[in-house]
Amino acid sequence: MCAARKPGKPGKPTKAELAARDEAIASAGGEAAPRAAGPGFSAIVGQDQAVGALQSALRRHRLPHALLLHGQIGVGKATGAGVLAQALNCPQSGPVDACGTCPSCHKVERGLHPDVLWVAPQKGLIRLRQISPRKADSSEPEPPHEPIVSWVGYRPYEGNRRVVVIDDAHTMNPPAQNALLKTLEEPPPSSILVLVTPAPGSLLPTIRSRCQTLRFQPLGLPLMRQYLEQQCGMNAAEARLRSSLAPGSLGRAISLDLDAYGVRRDVAETALEDACQGGAALLRSAETLLAAGAGERKIDQASSAIGAVRDILRDLLVLASGNGEEIVVNLDRVDEWTAWARTLDPDDIVDALDAVQRADDRLRSPLQPNARLTVEEALIGVGTALRDGTLG
Ligand SMILES: [Zn+2]
Repeated sequence: MCAARKPGKPGKPTKAELAARDEAIASAGGEAAPRAAGPGFSAIVGQDQAVGALQSALRRHRLPHALLLHGQIGVGKATGAGVLAQALNCPQSGPVDACGTCPSCHKVERGLHPDVLWVAPQKGLIRLRQISPRKADSSEPEPPHEPIVSWVGYRPYEGNRRVVVIDDAHTMNPPAQNALLKTLEEPPPSSILVLVTPAPGSLLPTIRSRCQTLRFQPLGLPLMRQYLEQQCGMNAAEARLRSSLAPGSLGRAISLDLDAYGVRRDVAETALEDACQGGAALLRSAETLLAAGAGERKIDQASSAIGAVRDILRDLLVLASGNGEEIVVNLDRVDEWTAWARTLDPDDIVDALDAVQRADDRLRSPLQPNARLTVEEALIGVGTALRDGTLG
């Protein structure tokens, strides 16, 4: 546990400080935490342990000066960092919670609080110029905010604590991470730094060792389904589909593009049928399937395409094994797929799933396999497994 520090007393700012702060406010406006579903820590779903640890530290005035919030995408880390920044500066409910309704909380939410700096990647990277003013390479683009190292040096302007949140902290390039080390180790007493990342392993060990880490857990399926139904007003089938497609991550479940998923699923369904035919139909299908995959890189598209095939095979296995509809993901396809599953042997579907898994493993290996060939191989493996054992 890092040593606790008492917040510094707000003193009378100098003219230069005021001017710099006004500039910082103007430039920082906009970047903020994701909009929470409710006020304060109660808006963070399914993270009782992490939230409890934060609130306990706040209650005892023992919040570390550098925090690393990690956990998979869409589990509430950034929202939690935003609520923490609100709580530390909220005159109504702070510092143990945030009211979410006072002017201070509103300013934090809108990215306009002068004592809260939200740092996010620019074109995929957090660069040296966002961290340090002196060491920056002038060829880098102009940062959208005052560099962190100088920003934390000011005393709080209207709140109690200066809070820097570095969202997607793993996108800091190595020079940026190195420039942050000293500030991270010994920030000014009234400042706190909160790093947020789904990939803490991508941070330098020297960064990680200077932070108190707090893990946000993957969310359970029942909790996600309940939230999607009750808070988002979805019907049971959609809530089940979304939470099954984005296991553990409420954020991803909510933002999933179901239309795109539906298109990909249709293509994957045809590809599975063609795989059982083999020959030219299979090769054509591999190409169409790859094109339907989500992602910017060919490898990601291939992984997404193969994943769509795997999702169907998984449901077919459930239905072929007589496990009933309650654990089928694609509820809307149950009737057609039940009939299809009756023609298949569960052992052959397991073999087909193995073939898909082997292809996916190759895609994730450092071998840089050819995306198209890997999708073809996956379909050939699936076709061989299913064709050999077709019952009908
Ligand atoms: Zn408030």
